[in-house]
Amino acid sequence: MTNDSPITVIGAGLAGSECAYQLARLGHRVTLREQKPHKRSPAHQSNAFAELVCSNSMRSDNPESAIGMLHAELRRVGSVILAAADAHRVPAGDALAVEREGFSAEVTRRLSASGRITVVPGEVTEIPEGDVVFATGPLTSDALTAALARFTGEKLYFYDAIAPIVAGDSIDLTVAFRASRYDKGDGADYLNLPLDKEEYQRFVKALCEGQKVTPHAFEEPKYFEGCLPVEVMAARGERVLAFGPMKPVGLTDPRTGRWPYAVVQLRMEDRAGTAWNLVGFQTRLTWPEQKRIFGTLPGLQNAEWVRMGQIHRNTFLDSPRLLAPDLSLKAEPRLFFAGQITGVEGYVESTACGYLTALAVHARRTQTTFAPPPGTTALGALYRHVTGEAHPPGAPYQPTNVVYALFPPVEGRMKKPEKRQAYASRSRADFDVWAPSAPHPVLPAPALCSPPPQHAVAAEPVAPVP
Ligand SMILES: Cc1cc2nc3c(=O)[nH]c(=O)nc-3n(C[C@H](O)[C@H](O)[C@H](O)COP(=O)(O)OP(=O)(O)OC[C@H]3O[C@@H](n4cnc5c(N)ncnc54)[C@H](O)[C@@H]3O)c2cc1C
Repeated sequence: MTNDSPITVIGAGLAGSECAYQLARLGHRVTLREQKPHKRSPAHQSNAFAELVCSNSMRSDNPESAIGMLHAELRRVGSVILAAADAHRVPAGDALAVEREGFSAEVTRRLSASGRITVVPGEVTEIPEGDVVFATGPLTSDALTAALARFTGEKLYFYDAIAPIVAGDSIDLTVAFRASRYDKGDGADYLNLPLDKEEYQRFVKALCEGQKVTPHAFEEPKYFEGCLPVEVMAARGERVLAFGPMKPVGLTDPRTGRWPYAVVQLRMEDRAGTAWNLVGFQTRLTWPEQKRIFGTLPGLQNAEWVRMGQIHRNTFLDSPRLLAPDLSLKAEPRLFFAGQITGVEGYVESTACGYLTALAVHARRTQTTFAPPPGTTALGALYRHVTGEAHPPGAPYQPTNVVYALFPPVEGRMKKPEKRQAYASRSRADFDVWAPSAPHPVLPAPALCSPPPQHAVAAEPVAPVP
């Protein structure tokens, strides 16, 4: 080790707990700084580590789903979060749901019992000295956010503004046409859904009447003019959208040779064009309402939704532009980032990012090469998102769950179930190839990866941190 001074991890949430645990397991001393119990974000209730602020579900455990693959890979790398989840699992069909108090208490116990982790309660308001991992989450305290902004400038966002994403092979290409406005650029990056006047007026009426999500008490609906929810624009006047995100100018519909009355533009979400987002359609409509209303758009009658839109209070970095490949700040390489603050979305995705950042800090400290699992694995696919590799150059960066659109596409046309199997078996095979290069033991696949029955302890409990 080139330097054995303690590594400061700020935030004992999902990402910070996993990162601290993995760093200690790799032989590093860690100072884990958590503002609780002296201060709590508006979403946190308990003093425990790894608190689940909303649902108690870590989503599907099906190893052929992208999230299920992530569960399996995290179990194989000895994740403390997944071990605690398996130990406190409650019945929930194929979802991995947990008894949240027992789960958080287990994580708190394991980390507090470690001889290499020193827990320091109290809010961090200034950037500490030395190597630091920021795992302070979507509700990073204001003081620290301000201190961070001095390093990041405007590329630190406070709200996510997520537009829905539709699967490419569910778009009706007899209606949607490829074009860029006035044919600028190569026109390949956009698909366009044309609406005539009646279709447009019906659509605007549905947006105005659609049911919206009620924001959390701490989320005052402060919208940025440049990023207004589509239903807020619709409510401002019937023609507003047709002069805004749905303006038809410069987009000639090859079927009519004319500009439509209005257009919904779809932009490629991933380089392979397997997923497309509805440009400018960030929204607070509920998910069922989005499926109902956006499903009426010409060309989207058979839409399969990869991700629904949302607008959340969410502090996150423009990671593809700010972070180096080892998840450290280009402007200040001793500062690393993990979890939701990097622009991943979700308990398990934040945990996974905590694991990846631990590997990166370990490589820096031991002057070895940081080699995350390949992009064909779920861990690697998330890494492709945070580094921007999964997205077309220059694409706006927004948080995401782990979805297949982050993986390099599997070749060949195949039905959905076969495609899921193809993604899963390729991921497992490539993870096996990567495993021997990991700086820690990796558990064998999948026997250990198939979820244990309810309440059974995971087959290979992760050894307590020395
Ligand atoms: C309201 C809300 C509901 C959500 N619901 C879900 C859901 O149902 N399912 C899901 O998968 N994801 C959900 N998420 C998204 C996300 O998965 C979680 O926020 C997840 O907890 C993020 O993990 P993290 O480790 O990045 O941050 P967190 O788990 O939030 O951990 C960050 C930790 O840092 C601490 N901290 C913050 N600032 C400081 C400071 N200055 N000094 C010291 N400590 C500090 C906090 O107290 C906290 O313990 C939700 C997010 C929000 C905001």
